[in-house]
Amino acid sequence: MTDDQLLRYSRHILLDALGIEGQERILATHALIIGAGGLGSPAALYLASAGIGKITLVDDDTVDFTNLQRQILHTQARVGMAKAESGKQALQAINPEINIVPLQQRLSGAALDALVATADLVLDCTDNFATRHAINRACVHHKKPLVSGAAIRFDGQISVYDLRQDDSPCYHCLFPEGEDVEEVRCAVMGVFAPLTGIVGTMQAAEALKLAAGIGESLNGRLLLLDALEMEWRTIRFKKDSGCTVCGPTKDGQAPGYLPRPDADRESADGACRLA
Ligand SMILES: [Zn+2]
Repeated sequence: MTDDQLLRYSRHILLDALGIEGQERILATHALIIGAGGLGSPAALYLASAGIGKITLVDDDTVDFTNLQRQILHTQARVGMAKAESGKQALQAINPEINIVPLQQRLSGAALDALVATADLVLDCTDNFATRHAINRACVHHKKPLVSGAAIRFDGQISVYDLRQDDSPCYHCLFPEGEDVEEVRCAVMGVFAPLTGIVGTMQAAEALKLAAGIGESLNGRLLLLDALEMEWRTIRFKKDSGCTVCGPTKDGQAPGYLPRPDADRESADGACRLA
């Protein structure tokens, strides 16, 4: 670490659990953040300020005036700009030392797969069910830890799927695809501004812990927040041995892992659901 880095990250280095070694692991980490909206904004800001060495920030959308109420990466002056580029500008202003790669595209299929393979950890900051399942399949396939958050109205959720561990549940174990779920249109759904900040910031905390290799992650636990009553609940869950994405098959392959052309059928302003 350089003298500047020792100063910049001194309040991390002072933490006994983290120290120089933990900070060096953070500096060596490549985080893939999918979604530069309400959740991705605070998640990316904290990962950048804390020195995650490389951040790939993916979003196919442009900054809209209605985003500014909660998507704190973006500014009124950048309305109309690609969110990935706007996000890069915000992150670089805080920490010019790190490598930020903005990608303006809807990740799916082979591109999603290739990018997940290069990352050390993945933050799902998207807002629709189909993309969440596509990200989960790629993370299961490449055994990458997945930090998943969701926020709508006053309801928030966060969990970690540490798919480096064979006994870890995946997103599909908890939320099987194809089940009857409440699908709502994000574009017409309200969301309490700081709720996205709370959940996205917790995603950053879990990602930094995974990067540094410290503490206990939320693997196997789903936290549910009712921000109107400001009450948290914890649900514990295990791997579903019959899961079609991460469950074993006779030949040892994960059966659900096939490129699925319908995986990105829902656009960002299409159907979404909490979870
Ligand atoms: Zn599973």
